[in-house]
Amino acid sequence: QAEALMRAEQLAAVGRISAQIVHEVRNPLSSIGLNVELLQDGLERASFATQDDAGEVKELLSAVTHEVDRLADVTEQYLRMARPPRPDLDPRDVTAVLDGVLDFTREELERAGVEVVRDFAKDTPPVLADEGQLRQVFLNLLRNSREAMPQGGKLTVATRPVEREVEVQVRDTGQGMTEEVRRHLFEPFFTTKEGGTGLGLAVSQQILQAHGGSLSCQSIPGQGTSFVLRLPRA
Ligand code: ADP
Ligand code: MG
Repeated sequence: QAEALMRAEQLAAVGRISAQIVHEVRNPLSSIGLNVELLQDGLERASFATQDDAGEVKELLSAVTHEVDRLADVTEQYLRMARPPRPDLDPRDVTAVLDGVLDFTREELERAGVEVVRDFAKDTPPVLADEGQLRQVFLNLLRNSREAMPQGGKLTVATRPVEREVEVQVRDTGQGMTEEVRRHLFEPFFTTKEGGTGLGLAVSQQILQAHGGSLSCQSIPGQGTSFVLRLPRA
C-alpha cells in the first residue's frame, strides 16, 4: 500500500516532466512522419540505378516510419499518465476513511513518538469522494506532519460539518514553516527536505480541486501547522 502510494507520487513526477517533453517532441515528430510518407510516395516515381538500390532505400524509410510510430505511441502513453485520473465520486464517510488511514499508519506514528488525537464531530455527514484518492491525500498530510515532528509531538485530526461541506483539519505540533515556505508549498517539486519529492501537497491539492473541494494551510514557525481540507457533502 505504502509502495503503491510512493509509486503514484513517482508516476506523477514522471508524468509532469514527460508532459513537457512530449509537448516539445510531438510536433516535430508528426512532421517527420509526414515527410517520410511523402518520401515514400516520391520513391514510387523515382528511378534508381538498380532494383537493389530501390529496395534498400524503401527498407530504410520503412524502418524510419516504424520508429516514428513507436515514438508517437510512447509519447501518447506518457501524456496519458501526466493527466491525473478523474475522481470516481461516491458518498463516503470521511471519518471511516480517516480511521482506516490512521490505523494503517499507527505503528509508524507511534515509533516517531507522535500522539494521535481523533476529534470527529458526531454525525459527520457523508462526502462525495474517490476513496483511494482521499486516502492518498490523508497519507500525504500525515506523513508531512510526522516529518515535521522529529522529536515527536501531537497530531490532531478533526472533522466538522460546515455549511454544504465537511471540513477536516490535520494539525501538528511540529516545526511549522516560514512565510516563504508557506507561499510555495503547493507548487510541484517544491521541497525543503533532503530527498523530498515536493509532490505530496501539489498532488493533494490537485485531487481536492478535482473533487470541488479545497486544501489550505496555516502555520506558525516553532509551534505547528494546520491543514484544512474541505469536501462537498454527498
Ligand atoms: P515533500 O514532503 O516531499 O517535501 P510536500 O509537497 O509534501 O513535499 O511538502 C512540501 C513542503 O511543505 C515540505 O518540504 C515542507 O517544507 C512543507 N511542509 C509540508 N507539510 C508540513 C508540515 N506539516 N509542517 C511543516 N512543513 C510542512
Ligand atoms: Mg510530503
